[in-house]
Amino acid sequence: MHTYRGYYTSAMNLADTSDGDLTQRLKRRGWRLSAQRRVVAEVLQGEHVHLTAEDVFARAHVRLAEISQATVYNTLRELVAMGEVRVVTPPDGVKRYDPNVLVDHHHLMCMRCQLLKDVHPDGESGVTLANSERFGFDVWGFDIIFKGVCPSCKGRST
Ligand SMILES: [Zn+2]
Ligand SMILES: [Zn+2]
Repeated sequence: MHTYRGYYTSAMNLADTSDGDLTQRLKRRGWRLSAQRRVVAEVLQGEHVHLTAEDVFARAHVRLAEISQATVYNTLRELVAMGEVRVVTPPDGVKRYDPNVLVDHHHLMCMRCQLLKDVHPDGESGVTLANSERFGFDVWGFDIIFKGVCPSCKGRST
């Protein structure tokens, strides 16, 4: 029996015992928080944060001038591998890094400015994939990206 929610299970268990802050979670895990790694984690922290690798580097660089792009990219890769940061890949956008792994959610994207918000759609548990559509896969989950235009882009003439 494969549940769609299996993908999130380990992160959900963490949620019971720790607060949601990325740096707090990393400390609890005993991850070696060097100055460089800490800056990357701090830049990523917060709600509705979906930065590209380039954004993360730009913001980290402001805080810690000597940080290299390679360090930022390696740290991001490591955080993703640890399951502490989730990658969101918009349909025709650049990969985003999302620290909100404790709460199962989907995304709403502005197709003009690429703004990405966390959303919790109604009826989402109704989305299932019949066995005949699984092609023998073990299915772990699904990501929904709602597409549209945000209020500030809507107000702007194109
Ligand atoms: Zn917009
Ligand atoms: Zn998100």
